[in-house]
Amino acid sequence: MGIVLGAIADDFTGATDLANNLVRSGMRCVQVIGVPEQPLALVDVDAVVVALKSRSCPTSQAVEDSLAALDWLQGQGARQCFFKYCSTFDSTDAGNIGPVSDALLERLRASQTVMVPAFPVNGRTVYQGHLFVGDRLLSDSGMQHHPLNPMRDADLVRVLTRQTPHPVGLAARAVLARGGAATRQHLNALAEQGVRHVICDTLDEADLEVLAEAVVDMPLVTGGSGLGQALPAQYRRRGWLAEVAEPGRLAPASGRALVLSGSCSRATLGQVRHFLERHPGFALDPLALAEGDDHLAAALAFARERLGAGGPVLVYASADPRRVEAAQATLGVARAGRLVEQALGQLATILVEEGVGRLVVAGGESSGAVVSALGIRQLRIGEQIDPGVPWTQTPLSGRAAPLSLALKSGNFGGEDFFTRAFAVLPTEETP
Ligand code: ADP
Repeated sequence: MGIVLGAIADDFTGATDLANNLVRSGMRCVQVIGVPEQPLALVDVDAVVVALKSRSCPTSQAVEDSLAALDWLQGQGARQCFFKYCSTFDSTDAGNIGPVSDALLERLRASQTVMVPAFPVNGRTVYQGHLFVGDRLLSDSGMQHHPLNPMRDADLVRVLTRQTPHPVGLAARAVLARGGAATRQHLNALAEQGVRHVICDTLDEADLEVLAEAVVDMPLVTGGSGLGQALPAQYRRRGWLAEVAEPGRLAPASGRALVLSGSCSRATLGQVRHFLERHPGFALDPLALAEGDDHLAAALAFARERLGAGGPVLVYASADPRRVEAAQATLGVARAGRLVEQALGQLATILVEEGVGRLVVAGGESSGAVVSALGIRQLRIGEQIDPGVPWTQTPLSGRAAPLSLALKSGNFGGEDFFTRAFAVLPTEETP
C-alpha cells in the first residue's frame, strides 16, 4: 500500500509548515527536498511533502518541477495530491498558482480542484472570495509591497482568473453553512458548467472541516496548511489511515547540541539575546569573514571547545539592522548574505562530522544553506517545538544515529526557543 497524501509545496518553510500540521492531525510524515531521483522505501509513512522552490521562479520551471514531483508522488502510491502554497496566495499575474494547478489537473486527468488558502488560526480567512489577513484585505495588509509578488488585489476569483484560461468559480460561505454534502453538490454543479478552479470561502476551523469532507475524493486539492490540518480526519473516516498514538515519534536524539543562526528577524534577535544570557556564543561578522579564513577558524575553535565542555553552543551572524546595513554597505547585500550562509554551511558540515547530533538553524535562507551543505534530502517530521517549527530527523551516511534538526524561519518561535528546543527533544539518556 502506498502513501495517502502526496503534497507539492512551492517553498521550503511552507513544506515544513504543512508537514507539521499533518503530523499534528495524526499522519506520519516525511518531507523531501526537491524531487528524489528514486522511489524511497517509505516505512510507516502516511504523507510525503516535496519541497520545491517554485513560488517565484519562471512559470515554465514551476510547472516542470511540479509535474516531476507529481509523477514521483504517484509512483509512491499517493491517493490524493495537495498543491501547497502560501496562505496569502503569493503569486503574480503570470502565476505560478494557476498554471501549476492547470498542469497538475491535466496530468491527473481531473476536471476540477479547489483553492483553500485560508489558515484561520493565523488570521488568514476568505469571505466572498476575498482574502483577509487579520482585519485587513490582503491588498491592504502589507503584502501589496512584497518585493517578489506584490498582492494588490484581494479578490481571489479575479486574481486567479488572470492566471488561467479556464473559468474560476466560488464556493461561498452560505454554501459551506449547509454542510459537506451540499458543498460537494455545489462543486459538482460548477464542474458540470466547466468550472475547473473553485475559490473557497473559509472563516474558521469548522469551514475547513466542511471543505475537507467535500473534497476528500478529489484527485487534487490546493491551498494552505489549514486544509492540510483538516484532511487527515476525513482520511481516517475513509479507513485510509491507521490510528497511530505518536505520529511525530522520532528515534531518541544523540550527540552534541549546536545552534546556528543567520536570521536577523526581530524574533530571532530576541532568541539570541535570551540564549547568550545562559550559554556561550560566537558572533560571526561578515566583514571579518570577507578578509580570509581566520574568522571562520576562530568560530570553529570556539565551538569545538565549548561543545567539548557539553554545549549547547550558539554561532550567530544575527545582528541588528544598523550592523546589517553597515556590512551590506561595504560588501553588497548579496555578498554579505552569501558569506554568512557559506560560513554556516561549513560550520554545520564540520561540526556534525565531529559529533553534533542536535542542530537548530535559524533563518529560512540560512536553513536552506545548511541543509544543502549537509546534503540532506529527506526529513522525518517530529513533534512541534513552537507553532510551525517541528523537530525533524534525517539519516546521515557514515553515522549510525540520525541527525536531529530544527529549522526555524525568522519570525517563528518564542523567546526561549534555542534553549527549549533541546529541553523538549527526547535523548538517548532521557528516553
Ligand atoms: P529570515 O528567516 O529571518 O528571513 P534568512 O536566513 O532567510 O532569515 O535571511 C537572513 C539573510 O541575512 C541571510 O541571507 C543571511 O546570510 C543574511 N545575514 C545574516 N547575518 C547578516 C549580517 N550580520 N550582515 C549581513 N547579512 C546577514
